[in-house]
Amino acid sequence: MNRQTRPKSSSARNPEMKHVKGKVGRVARVSETGQLANLEGLVTQLLTVLGEDPKRSGLEETPRRVAKAFSFFTKGYQENVDDIVNGALFPIEYDEMVIVRNIDFFSLCEHHLLPFFGRCHVGYIPDKQVVGLSKIPRIVDVFSRRLQVQERLTVQIAETLQAKLKPVGVGVVIEARHLCMMMRGVEKQNTLAVTSHMLGAFRKQQQTRDEFLKLIRSGNQNGE
Ligand SMILES: [Zn+2]
Repeated sequence: MNRQTRPKSSSARNPEMKHVKGKVGRVARVSETGQLANLEGLVTQLLTVLGEDPKRSGLEETPRRVAKAFSFFTKGYQENVDDIVNGALFPIEYDEMVIVRNIDFFSLCEHHLLPFFGRCHVGYIPDKQVVGLSKIPRIVDVFSRRLQVQERLTVQIAETLQAKLKPVGVGVVIEARHLCMMMRGVEKQNTLAVTSHMLGAFRKQQQTRDEFLKLIRSGNQNGE
C-alpha cells in the first residue's frame, strides 16, 4: 500500500485490518433500533458541555437532526456485501481490465469523527466472471459509511472484490481530503491523501499496474 501524505501507519493500530477477510460486511452493529433516542440525548449533552443552550430555538431540533445524520453516515454497519454481490455475478469470457473510476464517497475518520471524502477508482481483471458494474459503487458505500481510516477502507474494498470475484487481480486507489487535516492540526487545504491496494496481477505485474494507473488518470485533466 502506498501512502503519500498520511504520516503514520494505522494498520498496526487497527487489528481489524488483519482480519478483514473474515469480517467483510460483518462488523459490530452500532445503529440498532432505539439508538436514535440515545444519540439525541448525547448530542444534547454535547451542546451543553460546549457551552450552548440546547433549548434555544435554533438548537431545539439539532439533537434529532444530528442523530439522524450520524445514523446515515454509519449505515454501512447495517449492510452486508453478500446481499449486494449475491445474484450479481455473471459468467463471461472477457479477460481484459474492467475499471470503474471516479466513484464519489463520503466517510468519517474514526479518529475525529470528521468527514473525509473524495474519489475511489477500482479495477480488476475477471477470471470467467464479472460483477454488475453498479455493484462496485455500492460496495464502496458499505465500507465508507462506517467509521474509517482511509488505508483500511482501501484494503477492505480490494479484499472484498478479491474474495467475491476471485479475479486475476484487483487494484483500488482512493484520493481523499480530510476535514481533520483541513480544519485543525496542519490546516492544509489542498492536501490530497492517496492510498492504493493492489492484489494478484496488479501487485505482481508492473505492466498491469501501470495500465490501471494510466486509465484512471486519463479522464482527469486536473490530475485529481
Ligand atoms: Zn481524523
